[in-house]
Amino acid sequence: MRVHLVNPSHLSFGMAVITPRWLYVLAGATPRSFDDPVVTDETLAAFDVAKLQQGDVVGIGIHTGNALRGYEVGRMARRHGAYVIFGGIHATLFPEEALDLGDAHAVVKGDGDVIWAKVLADCVNGRPNRIYEGGKVQGADLLPARWDLLPRDRYMWASVQTIRGCPKHCSFCSVWRTDGQEPRQRKSDSVIREIIELRRMGFRFIALADDNFYPVTLEDLAVAERRKDRQRLDELHAIRDERFDLMTQLSKLPQDMVFYTQITMEAAEDDAFLEAMQRANIKGALVGVESVTPEGLKAIYKNFNVAGDALITRLQAFRNYGIHVLGSFIFGLPTDKPETFEATAALAQEAGVTFAQFVMLTPFPGTVDFTRWEQTMANDATRIEGIPLTRHWLIPQEVRPKVYIPHPVMSADEIRQRTQDVWDCFYSLRLIWARSRCVRTLRARLAFVLISKLYRQMYANTGIATDSARIGRSARWARLLAKPCRRLFAAPPLPELEMPAP
Ligand code: SF4
Repeated sequence: MRVHLVNPSHLSFGMAVITPRWLYVLAGATPRSFDDPVVTDETLAAFDVAKLQQGDVVGIGIHTGNALRGYEVGRMARRHGAYVIFGGIHATLFPEEALDLGDAHAVVKGDGDVIWAKVLADCVNGRPNRIYEGGKVQGADLLPARWDLLPRDRYMWASVQTIRGCPKHCSFCSVWRTDGQEPRQRKSDSVIREIIELRRMGFRFIALADDNFYPVTLEDLAVAERRKDRQRLDELHAIRDERFDLMTQLSKLPQDMVFYTQITMEAAEDDAFLEAMQRANIKGALVGVESVTPEGLKAIYKNFNVAGDALITRLQAFRNYGIHVLGSFIFGLPTDKPETFEATAALAQEAGVTFAQFVMLTPFPGTVDFTRWEQTMANDATRIEGIPLTRHWLIPQEVRPKVYIPHPVMSADEIRQRTQDVWDCFYSLRLIWARSRCVRTLRARLAFVLISKLYRQMYANTGIATDSARIGRSARWARLLAKPCRRLFAAPPLPELEMPAP
């Protein structure tokens, strides 16, 4: 019996930016009594069902965006006699859907790190359960990945998780509900060992694939202080101390290493934290700006962000510590107006964000927005290819709408078109070239242009465009740009790099 792990995707680029970490963590959770799992990341190439043999196990991890392709893979695998097991956020939220449409034998809800060995043992015995409860695995039990199985030459960045969960409760995000609001931190030693293994292989760029790298804010500490809640204060300080400990250890790694993470904007107020990030070579951060207006932030329960000039100051604070910001903005909020698009593009430029992504508000399952929207849609009879809009992820990709929540002043197509225009403007050659001043040499500036263009082709055109010709063109461009980009990120392997004692 062979174990296969599949990350589904309806588009393949031959090369990918960041390693899908879960594949290699689940490979690590596969007991050594099995042969090494066969790992397929479909963002590189489609799953080859001919490799399957009767009785093999196929583990498929899905989020809402790739669920439909995942179900296709599941049905194919089952037809070839394999045990089909689904996991991931979407399968956790809709286990019956995966059993039904993905022909699954079983669904793992929650984290797979610990329960996966039991699932495999049940398959060996020919009696997998329908549902497994993986729960929320404690930080110390979160597993390292099997990087020895990684095709080194196909990814630009490796990914390591240091913390899971987020204490916030943004209305468009499911992380705080699925991963929990209580931060679960991995032990720093285990994180560092994994990073050293990756640097030995020649990865010097590593994404710290965390829900929120900054789980305790200065405001959290002040609130606990005001309430004279000694126990809470101690807990918060313990979490914060562990973050600083990790960053101290990161700072001792080879100085050519570059880390990138996801963080809330409140970190901009915390000089000690930003300074520690700088020392740790954390040179990039995805910051969820979402909206540039106070009304927009209120609508999505993100009042802890700021707007206007204060927003520009906060975003610039990251740059003062050498941290490049990838600003993430959402369009289609009920408070947005036609002029919001231009104002957002201008603010992104003025605040000096190095990269930006502009996404359209989508009600994803597991979020507060989805629950509210689903209720309002109870009597809606619209069907696309027989699928109600509230199950939008099941609508075939070619005819799937891009905007779902009716907007008070703009049509869906206007929101889509204006969003596309903001991408076009932010990633115009002139503005990319101007932003490329953030690096020093001509070679680095040219690399910056290449990477900006790749980012835009991979994430903007394939996600927003409605015509298949444009999507196809973008995928071809992305494939073309990906190869030279990967070479820019590669480093000579350091096999002799010393591993700290466990
Ligand atoms: S959007 Fe970010 S800050 Fe808000 S809940 Fe999700 S992970 Fe946390």
